[in-house]
Amino acid sequence: MAEMVFLGTSSMVPTKERNHSSFFLGFRAEGILFDCGEGTQRQLKIAGINPNRITKILISHWHGDHTLGIPGLLQTLAANKYDKTLKIYGPKGTKKSINYILKTFAFLNSISMEIFEIKKTMFYENDEYALEAYPLEHKIPCLGFRFVEKDITKVDMAKAKKLGLSEGPIIGKLQSGKSVIIKGRKIKPSDVTYIQKGRTLGYIADTNRCENCSKIAKDADILISESTFESKLDEKAEDYTHMTARDAAMVAAGAGAKKLILTHFSQRYASVEDLQEEAKTYFPNSVCAYDFMKVQF
Ligand SMILES: [Zn+2]
Ligand SMILES: [Zn+2]
Repeated sequence: MAEMVFLGTSSMVPTKERNHSSFFLGFRAEGILFDCGEGTQRQLKIAGINPNRITKILISHWHGDHTLGIPGLLQTLAANKYDKTLKIYGPKGTKKSINYILKTFAFLNSISMEIFEIKKTMFYENDEYALEAYPLEHKIPCLGFRFVEKDITKVDMAKAKKLGLSEGPIIGKLQSGKSVIIKGRKIKPSDVTYIQKGRTLGYIADTNRCENCSKIAKDADILISESTFESKLDEKAEDYTHMTARDAAMVAAGAGAKKLILTHFSQRYASVEDLQEEAKTYFPNSVCAYDFMKVQF
C-alpha cells in the first residue's frame, strides 16, 4: 500500500487554505517528496509526517512555488540529525541551485546529500519501483514524473495448500520462479502464483498541454496534474504555460488514467468547485486536491 499526502495545492501565490506545491509519497521504507514549496516543512509537521522519513526529493523545476521550502527543510533535517544520504533529483541546473542555497544560508550543520541532474527517462530503479522523468513545456526547464511500482509475483495460498504446501522457504522458491518437487511431484510456479500489477502514479507539473503529459498519464492509477485555470482562461493558461482543468481531464481520458487529482490552483479561486465540475465533464473520476488530503493506492 502506498500513501500520498498533499502538502500544498496552490500555484504561484499561497492562500490561507493552500500552501505552495508539494506532496509526499510514502512507499515501504521510502519517503519521496515531490517538489518543496515554501512552508513545506511546516505542512509535514501538521500532517504528522516526520521529515526524517524523506529519502528522495524530486524537483520539477526551480520556480519558487516548487522550491522555496528547500533551505528550511535542509536546516531542519540537519537539526534532526538526519542520518541517511538525501537524494535530490531535478532538471539541469539543480546542482548549481542547491550549491547556492548551501552558500547563501548559514547552516550550522550539513547533512549527507547526493544531487542528480536528470538526463534520461528512467533515472532511478530498484527491485521494487522505478522513477521516470519527462520534459514539459514551461517557461524554464521543467520535468513531470512517474512512479512505477514493479509487478509482484504473489502466491495463491489456497491453491498452494491444496497441493500440500504451507508457508516457508518452498513458497519463496516458487515465488522466485523456481519449480519444486514435493513427494515426487513437480510443482511449477505457474501452478500456484499470479502476478499482481504494480501501481503507477503520474505527476504533471507546470506546463502547457503537450505530448509528454500523455506519457506521464499513460494507464496511471493516480494522475496528479496541475490545473492552474479553468478553460474560460484558456489564453492566459497558454501564455503562462499552464494547463486548465479541461486540459488535465482530456489528458487523463486520452491516456487511460484511472483517477485524476487536480492541483496547483490559481489564487483567484476561493472555491475550486467549478474546476472540478469542468474536469468531470471530460473525465468523471476527477477530484480537486486540498492541503493535507490523503490518498491511498
Ligand atoms: Zn508552479
Ligand atoms: Zn512554474
